[in-house]
Amino acid sequence: FFVSPEQITGGRVTITGPDVVHISRVLRLGPGDVITVMDGRGKGYRVRLTGITGTAVEGVILEQFIPGGEAPLKVTLVQGLSKGDKMDIIIQKSTELGVSCVVPLACRRSVVRLTPAKARERQQRWQRIALEAAKQSRRAIVPRVTEVMDLPAVLDLISPGALALMPWEEERELSLKAALRGQSCGEVFIFIGPEGGFAAGEVAVARERGVLSVSLGPRILRTETAGLATLTMILYELGD
Ligand code: SAM
Repeated sequence: FFVSPEQITGGRVTITGPDVVHISRVLRLGPGDVITVMDGRGKGYRVRLTGITGTAVEGVILEQFIPGGEAPLKVTLVQGLSKGDKMDIIIQKSTELGVSCVVPLACRRSVVRLTPAKARERQQRWQRIALEAAKQSRRAIVPRVTEVMDLPAVLDLISPGALALMPWEEERELSLKAALRGQSCGEVFIFIGPEGGFAAGEVAVARERGVLSVSLGPRILRTETAGLATLTMILYELGD
């Protein structure tokens, strides 16, 4: 179970929300049973349950541990806003694969246009999807899904020393494989365009800021395939 750090105080843990029903009615756990709790930021706790009410589960921490399973490499997937349930799938699958952060990107060719209220609602939904996927994959962290951002704002997020890659189907010079050769960075940003791809102007702006446009090969991948394939290849080459 994931809890926020504020739910862990003085050697005790308080679980609230939908997990209460899951613990008490679905798993039928009760006082004396031991569960594993993550704070979503890389710390794990073995917790003995001490009490269950209709709204909260209380427990006492038996031990703290640093869970394994997280790649030392931090990968942020900057995903062009795409149609239907594609963002849901991308967030779920990239969490399973080991992404650290997902940034929904409003692109020139994004068909989807969200009002600020709708964008907030979607962000909350996507963050819940990341949480559920992190639980099922036994991740030690829950990847953050940021608010919907535009390209200049995301380019400002790239820290010095990070590798930033923009798969672009028009790229003929540099392959992803060549771009990763000899790299030993701790942080990577992947920029993926929406269904209509990136506009040439967007690629030019990104390149000016040090982002490398790369080819993923001769076949054009769907937007929901491109990010997941790139993430997988990067974690294979540079992470674990
Ligand atoms: N029309 C399809 C769709 O509806 O999904 C293909 C979209 S493709 C243009 C979307 C993004 O995937 C591109 O902006 C690029 O980031 C990435 N991409 C797909 N195939 C690629 C390739 N062979 N090389 C580099 N990038 C690629």
